[in-house]
Amino acid sequence: MGELEAGRKYGLKTRLVRGGLKRSEHGETSEALYLTSGYAYDSAESAEARFKGEEPGYMYSRFGNPTVAMFEDRMALIEGAPVARATATGMAAVTASMLCHLRQGDHVIASRAMFGGCRYVIEDVLPRYGITSTLVDGTNLEAWRQAVKPATKVLFLETPANPTLEIIDLRAVAEIAHKAGARLIVDNVFATPVLQRPMEYGADIVVYSATKHIDGQGRCLGGAILCDEKFLADHLLPFIRNTGPSLSPFNAWVLVKALETLDLRVRAMCEHAAAVADVLAREPKVKRVTYPGRPDHPQAALARAQMGLGGSLVTFDIDGGKAAAFRFANALKLIDISNNLGDAKSLITHPATTTHYRLTPEARAELGVTEGLMRLSVGLEDPSDLAEDLSRALKAV
Ligand SMILES: *Cc1c(COP(=O)(O)O)cnc(C)c1O
Repeated sequence: MGELEAGRKYGLKTRLVRGGLKRSEHGETSEALYLTSGYAYDSAESAEARFKGEEPGYMYSRFGNPTVAMFEDRMALIEGAPVARATATGMAAVTASMLCHLRQGDHVIASRAMFGGCRYVIEDVLPRYGITSTLVDGTNLEAWRQAVKPATKVLFLETPANPTLEIIDLRAVAEIAHKAGARLIVDNVFATPVLQRPMEYGADIVVYSATKHIDGQGRCLGGAILCDEKFLADHLLPFIRNTGPSLSPFNAWVLVKALETLDLRVRAMCEHAAAVADVLAREPKVKRVTYPGRPDHPQAALARAQMGLGGSLVTFDIDGGKAAAFRFANALKLIDISNNLGDAKSLITHPATTTHYRLTPEARAELGVTEGLMRLSVGLEDPSDLAEDLSRALKAV
């Protein structure tokens, strides 16, 4: 009772609340927390059969745990993906999604505007193993096409991108990838599975930092990789099993419970973000507001088609560069200065000196990460209180 029937189509909200639920013989209403590293076998024969794969059952929590499995199954169902595997962090998911199948001589194409850690993996880690890459302007489809080589195995992107909030055409890039015989990997953190399910547009693999909106309450780190059964069996499972980027059962329990309210939280955040973006656009000290839900966003139509709502992140450029940006951030009383995002609490970041400080000034300029750029993750507080905090702090500039 209470578990979803296999093969039946359920709405997204039902999948978020009940997907993957597996009750024990006690019939607990809430998902059980199996805080165990290992499992005992009924007999030596049973242990042998499980290791040979002849008998189903858990063996070791590095590669299987009932609480983690509920989170994984719920994530797969939400996305409409065949399978999902959880990782300890979003970066472990990104890294495993590439290292589990790429090898020396392979080539990766990625959009320039992406999370700092992803850029480090592609530009600094992969080359040590002989895997080369080309970074392109993700919004320029011709640039993706021209970067394709015979050795190209992966196209990687983030949409909306961090911190530029540019929107990349998922269907078009998936087509380019498949024509090249490569896989498209999408980092879907900013959109969340509530707004955008990249596999519907042809993505082969979707990765998440569950640390962001999925937890959404600043409690724990986590990640997930969504893929098909063949990729899991041939590449991902052996990699995870033997290298161990595994999610703790406790964190999986926090995350599986958090998924129950993801739809409510993300929709409320989007509504608040849209209101705050409009207030910022009227502020005289703000040069430019970027929000995918506003009609003045450069890819507003694509954002509407791919995501429906505009998301929970807003970026804006403050007149007066770094000094003005710092005066503004320090004058905020409600909104916290933090590099996290997707939280119930609204958070503000100055990308040029934090998340993107590692890039050269030229690379930052190319991305539009100016000295006055602020990234705001809009939370669940009253939008009128957020607007007042922002407007008051802008006066301090
Ligand atoms: C935060 C983030 C990551 C990394 O996730 P962690 O859980 O912090 O390791 C990757 N990609 C994007 C877009 C992110 O926002």
